Order: sequence, then structure tokens, then C-alpha cells
Amino acid sequence: MARLVVIGGDAAGASAAGRAKRLDPDLDVVMFERGGHTSYAACGLPYLVAETVDDAQDLIARTPTEHRAAGLDVRMGHEVVGIDLEARRVEVRDLASDRTITEGFDDLVIATGASPIRPPLEGIDCSGILGIRSIPDADAIDAIIDDRHPERAVVVGGGYIGLEMAEALLERGLTVTMVEMQDAPMATLDADMGARVADAIRSLGVDLRLGTGVEGFEAADGWVTAVATGDGELPADLAVMGLGMRPNVALAADAGVPIGPSGAIATDARMATRVEGVWAAGDCVESLHRVSHRPVSIALGTHANKQGRVVGTNVAGGAARFPGVVGTAITRVGATEIARTGLNETEAAAAGFATVSALAEGHTRAFYYPGAEELAVKVVAERSTGRILGAQIVGGPEAGKRIDVLALAVWTGMGAEEFSMSDLSYAPPVAPVWETSMIAARLAAKAVAADPVQD
Ligand code: FAD
Repeated sequence: MARLVVIGGDAAGASAAGRAKRLDPDLDVVMFERGGHTSYAACGLPYLVAETVDDAQDLIARTPTEHRAAGLDVRMGHEVVGIDLEARRVEVRDLASDRTITEGFDDLVIATGASPIRPPLEGIDCSGILGIRSIPDADAIDAIIDDRHPERAVVVGGGYIGLEMAEALLERGLTVTMVEMQDAPMATLDADMGARVADAIRSLGVDLRLGTGVEGFEAADGWVTAVATGDGELPADLAVMGLGMRPNVALAADAGVPIGPSGAIATDARMATRVEGVWAAGDCVESLHRVSHRPVSIALGTHANKQGRVVGTNVAGGAARFPGVVGTAITRVGATEIARTGLNETEAAAAGFATVSALAEGHTRAFYYPGAEELAVKVVAERSTGRILGAQIVGGPEAGKRIDVLALAVWTGMGAEEFSMSDLSYAPPVAPVWETSMIAARLAAKAVAADPVQD
């Protein structure tokens, strides 16, 4: 019987394992997970800390028992510590017994995910400085709040996880300072849209320090007491790192599986690595950006699930392809929804595009209809063709998911002019007659027409 070994039991790994087994019931599928949970929604962790979600079990889509009932051989608390590509076997440590075993494979899926970035700053190893990635991480923050009753938290980094954690800590009654090195939070947006996010964060009561780098951590009796920044010392009883994720590629790299220019594992569209019979999916791989045509490392669950499914199909003899990404993402802080797709101005310039941008402000419903919320939509278009390269939205409830229609415009290479006259839905309680995205696209098209590129 052919054997598939899967390393990692969350979104990508469990999707791959489950799909392969469903399509080929005769396949022997062994899934190694070093932690204590499978198929958990890491995306829900900030809401667990905030107590919006009551119980960690609520975040689990499939337990090890359910995976086993579906025919998978799931080994929890087992860490793969080496891959021998020549002998086609993995070396695995059983963390409970500290025994090492080996397991042979015909196909191997590497789905080792990513880890929060922890720069080697002075004092970073003292207690009370946590990243968030797993249920135990959320439990640890929860336990600190319950047991030590911290009053002041510092969130390091103003990306979406930093934002979500800042709000969670506010919910738990802490005062929160957020430190961000850039001049605006949410570096995946242009600075003008990031400034709107800054206003939203501050309106919640977060002390937001922009243009401020963290230099180290002070501690007393081994516990963090302050975060040292270029802007002085910030008192802290708890610090949460939100500096982004780094793909877990050491295992693959040590085995000789090629790593791509973004620092994540390189695969083709079938999610096959450069090594025959070795596949990879999720946060540990890089994806093709459909606009810049460059490999990018974008750690999102939306990609991990799809890529896992593609791998599972292909291992079982199918012919699935992951079509790439356009960098669509969404989050919410307080009542403010923040979304983006495609390339922002900086990314577009780095990819060699000359661009025009247009900003429109409007409402989520007809302007007179109760509950209409303000939103701003920015469209970035290619100067020579008018093609929509990217878009960003910041606004009140119901604003954010409007990014999806723009994401499809970017995905298909639609022009701003065509988008501005496209057939989008309208009724006063749910939308204005002119969607703000259509107005932004029309303004972008106008800017293109007024400023044609002379090649
Ligand atoms: P992971 O979830 O990291 O799973 C990898 C698994 O492999 C882990 O369980 C790990 O223990 C295991 N593992 C690693 N190495 C080994 C080894 N050597 N041996 C055995 N097991 C190993 N994405 C979105 O799209 N939208 C969101 O709103 C969103 N919010 C998020 C909020 C937070 C706080 C976080 C942390 C992430 C969020 N994400 C979100 C990202 C999303 O959770 C990840 O993209 C997704 O979990 C990636 O799945 P994965 O299977 O590739 O990696």
C-alpha cells in the first residue's frame, strides 16, 4: 500500500491528508502533528483571547479522533525532526516519550506553517512577551490576564494580528499601547489609507506610537516591566509580538528541498516542490502573485486550505492547480473594517508599474437609509492601460467585504473604466446606487485618460 506522510496537522496539512484519503481510500496516510490540536482556526485566536469565543474547542474544525474516523493515522505530539530524501523516510520524535522513530513515505507533504517573528532584541526572552499562533499561545495570554492581572499591555507591530490583539486586550480591560515602526499601521495599505486605520485604533483608546522602533525589553525578576523604544520606555506588564510571520522552512531546507526567493518553499502550481514526490502547502510555501508575477510569501488561511486541497487531489492521482494569489485580505478593528487586494502603490512601483490612484468616499447603504456607514475606497490602476492593479477599503460595518468584487476585477485584469460601469447590485438598505468602488474606479479611469503614458 502506498504511503503518504504529512508533516503538520492544521489547515494545509489536514486538508491535504483528508482530501488524499477521500479520493484514494487505499492510500495509507500518516499525519504527524507536534502540537496537541489538529485543524484549529488560528484566525479565531484573538477572539478567544477577547472572550468573544468562549472555548478553544469551538475553534477546532476537526479533532484527531474525527480525522482517525476518516481513516487517517494521526500521531499527535510527534515532531518530524529530519527528512531523508534519499531513503524516503522521516525521522520523528515522540515528544511524550522522547523516543525517535522513522517512517517511510512514497509521497511527503510539508505543511509546517509559520511562526511569529521574534527579533533578537535585548530582554526578549524574559517572561510576559508572547507571540500568538496556536491555542496554547492564546491560553498563555489568557492565563496571564487571569492570574497576574496585568494592567498595561504593549503590542509590538501594527499589522492585522497586532490590531486584532490590541482590541482583544482592550476587551479584557488592559490599557494598550501599540508601537509601529512605520508612519502608519497596516503596512499592506498605502499610508493615506493606513492613516484612517490609525484614527480607528486611536478612537478605541489605544495609545498608538507611530514611527517608533522597539529597541529592547526591561524586566524585573524575569518578568517584562517595560518596552524600550526610540520614543522612550513604555511601561508594560505584558507584551504581544505582532511583527508578522516567518515560514517554517528549516526542516525542508536542511533536507535539500529548494527554498524560493521569498524565503518560503518553492513549488509549482500543482504544489509540487522541486523534489519528486515531495509536496508543500500553506504558510511554509510561496505563491505566485498574479499581478506582479513574482513569488510571494503571504501567510493566510485562505491559501493554506486551498493549497492543501490541491496537494491532496494530486497525491491521489488528480490534476489540480493552485492558480496563485492577488493578496486579498480583510480585518476589523472596533467597528472599522479594513480590506485590500492586489498591489498597493509601493508594491506596484516595486513591480515596475507606473500607476494612477483614485480615492472615493461614500456610504455602505443609500446615504439617507438608517445605518449607512462611511467608507473610503482607493483604486490603484496601471497608467498605460487603466487595468485595476489593486484596491483598499477602510470603512464602517459592511464596508470590508466589498473588496471581493474588486479582488475579482484584479484577478481577471479588468480595466477601471469597465469596472465603473459594471452591473453591481443596488437597493437602499444594502448599497448606494453608485458603489463607492465604482466611483473610485471611474476617477482612476479619468486620471488614466487625462494622463496617457507616452511610450
Ligand atoms: P499552521 O496553521 O501554522 O499549521 C502548521 C502545523 O504544523 C502546526 O500545527 C505545527 O504545530 C505543525 N508543525 C510544524 N512543524 C512541525 C514538525 N516538524 N513536525 C510536526 N508538526 C509540525 N488567515 C486568514 O486568511 N484570515 C484571518 O483572519 C487570519 N487571522 C489570523 C489570526 C492569527 C492570530 C493568526 C496566528 C493567523 C491568522 N491567519 C489568518 C493565518 C492562518 O491562520 C494561517 O495562514 C493558517 O493557519 C496556515 O495554515 P498552515 O497549515 O499552513 O500552518
